[in-house]
Amino acid sequence: MAFPKIIIIGSGLSGLSLSLFLTRLLPTASIKIYEVRPSTHPSTSGTINLTPNALRVLDHLGIYESLIPQGFNFDNLTLLNHQFDFLASIPIAGISEFGYQSLRIERRIVHSALLRKVAERSSQIEIIYDSKCESVEESDADVTVNFTDGTSTTGDVVIACDGIHSTVRKSFVKDPKNFNPKYTGQISIGGTITKSQIQEFNINNNPYPLMMFGPESSTGANFVVWPYDRSGDKFTFFTTLSKPDEDNDGWKSYADGKELLKSIMQETFSSDGSPWNEMVKKTIELSDAEGYAFWPYYLHSIPEKFYSEKARVILIGDAAHAMPPSGGQGAAMAFEDAETLAYSLAAAFTAESGSDINTPHGREILSKWSDHRIERMKTIHEMKERMSDMRKGGSGSTSGFMFTVKVWTIWLLGFLGVLGRTRRAVNNYDARKEAAVWVGGGVMAKSE
Ligand SMILES: Cc1cc2nc3c(=O)[nH]c(=O)nc-3n(C[C@H](O)[C@H](O)[C@H](O)COP(=O)(O)OP(=O)(O)OC[C@H]3O[C@@H](n4cnc5c(N)ncnc54)[C@H](O)[C@@H]3O)c2cc1C
Repeated sequence: MAFPKIIIIGSGLSGLSLSLFLTRLLPTASIKIYEVRPSTHPSTSGTINLTPNALRVLDHLGIYESLIPQGFNFDNLTLLNHQFDFLASIPIAGISEFGYQSLRIERRIVHSALLRKVAERSSQIEIIYDSKCESVEESDADVTVNFTDGTSTTGDVVIACDGIHSTVRKSFVKDPKNFNPKYTGQISIGGTITKSQIQEFNINNNPYPLMMFGPESSTGANFVVWPYDRSGDKFTFFTTLSKPDEDNDGWKSYADGKELLKSIMQETFSSDGSPWNEMVKKTIELSDAEGYAFWPYYLHSIPEKFYSEKARVILIGDAAHAMPPSGGQGAAMAFEDAETLAYSLAAAFTAESGSDINTPHGREILSKWSDHRIERMKTIHEMKERMSDMRKGGSGSTSGFMFTVKVWTIWLLGFLGVLGRTRRAVNNYDARKEAAVWVGGGVMAKSE
């Protein structure tokens, strides 16, 4: 008999990686993943940057090596000011210190690699597409998921991997004001370009990726140019802009047109008297409007714990703690959650408890896992706040005197080794070592 019956809502980065770890650790489990998207378009588009902590999880899953030739591998981020003067080269990753470089890659490539692994384990994992979860109800004995088409299913535990606009979170979080993520007052607009189109404007041949900081919020506070393929020829570029009011500032209309997004970038960075360098102006001018997209930044409040009263509903990834992409750690946190939770579930479902997780032992394991992940989120949030402040426009640190302070702060943080400490705290995380503390050696032996 298959036990336990594990239901995962969402086949994004966290859902797929969790299912893969579970097959290794709970070989008798039945794992069903319900996904709202159609099987023909299983992933969203765009690129993501994966730091060593994220890549370590993918290495444990056996897919990291296959990703190396498909993305841009690098160690340092070059910081410049708006006039293209060099500020600093910030180490982000590196084989000698962390075992991994950083990797910028198309999201769909990572998603496809995970899907291929899932296909190899099709005897244990089933993905049911076109299934939109509507609500979740738990009882002492089991948990039921209701779908918008009127059907339902029952299992021993449900893991919410349904992302930033999670439906499961709504059935889980008690206070309605914490159901939905909060708009942070910042949006990102970006597009794509090739190196051959803009290299001649990289006058000092600064190593990519480039992160540039500007002096005045009205003319843009930051501009990033980042390769995302192995050869380093395909680039993504983007800026973070302050748009304080979600309802009245009109950014929702940006969804109406890519030409509009390009024209906003032109107004911000290339209007008469713009202080920005040629590389930024030319990148926008030469870019194809079709490649543009925008993302409002949202943040979820972190619940007291990531599991429900009867331990049958568990939140991970963006459903648990969505954060703005400025810290570049959302996917990394989703992967870390997935791996640590898989070890924890393997420890919670023992031979004695069978398929019941709603036991003192099951709740104790989940409590340790949840406390640990909440502590981890605090560290990441501090780092993300620092990154967000550095990119902020429309307030404080981007005008005149404060801009100079910001530039010096970047230098000082580097000099004092604070950036290095933060980087180590982020990059060195190893889910296997962390989880061994509360799940014990028996489970970890199965993880190799
Ligand atoms: C512009 C941008 C740039 C980013 N850059 C980075 C980066 O550089 N580095 C990084 O680490 N992170 C980055 N992130 C964050 C990262 O993308 C997310 O944190 C990560 O995708 C979260 O994974 P997840 O599995 O929790 O959710 P997702 O990957 O969003 O997956 C959720 C899945 O659930 C499905 N779903 C949703 N609702 C339902 C429902 N009701 N029923 C069934 N299925 C449902 C969705 O279709 C989706 O497949 C970025 C995010 C954005 C927006």
